[in-house]
Amino acid sequence: MTRITCLVPFCRCTLVPSDPKHTEGICQKHWRLMPRAVKARRRQALRRVAKLKRMWDGNRRGQERIESTGRYLKYCAALTRAYQQSYDAWDRCKAAAIEAAGGI
Ligand SMILES: [Zn+2]
Repeated sequence: MTRITCLVPFCRCTLVPSDPKHTEGICQKHWRLMPRAVKARRRQALRRVAKLKRMWDGNRRGQERIESTGRYLKYCAALTRAYQQSYDAWDRCKAAAIEAAGGI
């Protein structure tokens, strides 16, 4: 298990990423300082991605339903949009954590 350092400048806390592919993270101390709305928005975006993935990944009935109703492209577009929203939400988290740490 590799630990990564908090992305807030001058914070020397380390953390174990929730996913080994993640290369950046926010320590608990700075996570707590972030506005609730920013965290909620990220959680909402992640839930949406998970929900859309459940509709397809390893779900034969879901795949058949999406394909038989001709919604495959719509589904792909929705998944892409959900991923983009989760990336944007993470960017907002980073900005909010750094702002909160600086007291701006
Ligand atoms: Zn930190």
